Formats: sequence, structure tokens, C-alpha cells
Amino acid sequence: MKAPICNVCLKSSDELCSMCEDKLEDGDITETDIKITRILYDLSKEYSSLKDSEIVKVFEMEKVIVIVTAEGDGAKVVGRSGEIVKEVASEVDKSIRVVEKAEDDMDTIKGLLSPAEVESINTVFMPEGKSKKIVVDDEYTGKINLSVEEFEEIIKEITDTPYKLSFE
Ligand SMILES: [Zn+2]
Repeated sequence: MKAPICNVCLKSSDELCSMCEDKLEDGDITETDIKITRILYDLSKEYSSLKDSEIVKVFEMEKVIVIVTAEGDGAKVVGRSGEIVKEVASEVDKSIRVVEKAEDDMDTIKGLLSPAEVESINTVFMPEGKSKKIVVDDEYTGKINLSVEEFEEIIKEITDTPYKLSFE
């Protein structure tokens, strides 16, 4: 398994090595990255699909924990009929959403917003620069377990592109 922390730290349950400790201090990794990837590492003993997966980043939001995997690794982390994420969810008592960091931003966006469908993505010009606006039908308002601000924060970190989300 590949994770934001090194293999030695994945296997341990307390202190971090000096390299990972530096990353934590610099804000490159968070306590959430550490907590969730250690849980997944433990589960990899039981669920072999995890062994060959890469976790890029984990975000803890108000109602949900978002696990970002490398492209093509989403299903390995979700598990058969969601069995792996169910175990993680019960351990942290929060729902889990798994998305892939895909080459095409659209795939990541869809993963974050499901079950809502994206109607359009338009480039908009604002005083602070160019941005992209994602439009979702307003029938999905409140049906995604991420707030607009949370979605915008996550997608910016994953794709490095400032997207705006709008329900219309
Ligand atoms: Zn380490």
C-alpha cells in the first residue's frame, strides 16, 4: 500500500519517523491522513486489494471523510460491495466517500458529487482571476454529504484548479 506517510509509519501505531514528522509539521500531511491510512493498512491484512492501492490524501469534513486514491484504485479501497469502506466507517463513525485523483478532473468531480449529475462546467472571469463553474441541478441541494465550501476546498487541493460549485 502507498500512502502519504511512509511504510514504517503505516505499520506503527504511535510516533512518526522524523521524515513524516516534518511533513506533518509543514502541513503536507494531516492527522487525518495518518489515522485513516493506518486503519486501511490494518485492513489490508484482511483485504488484499488494499495492498496494491495508493492513497493520495484524506480529508475529514463535517459529515464525511473523503479518501482520495490514485487513478484506477478507487474500487480496491471501496472493496467488494463496499465492505472495506463499511469497516472504516464503523471505526471512525462517519460516512466515507472514495474518489480517484484522475487525469481528467471531471472524473474526480463526478466522484465527489455523486449521486448528483454535473450539468455543465463553464469558465468564468472574476476580479481574482479565471475560475471554472460547475453547475448541478438544484434538485440535488442538500443531497450531497459535502457542503459547497468543502467541495471547493477539496477539488482545489486535488486538481490545483479553482472550481466553483453552483446549484441552479
Ligand atoms: Zn515515516
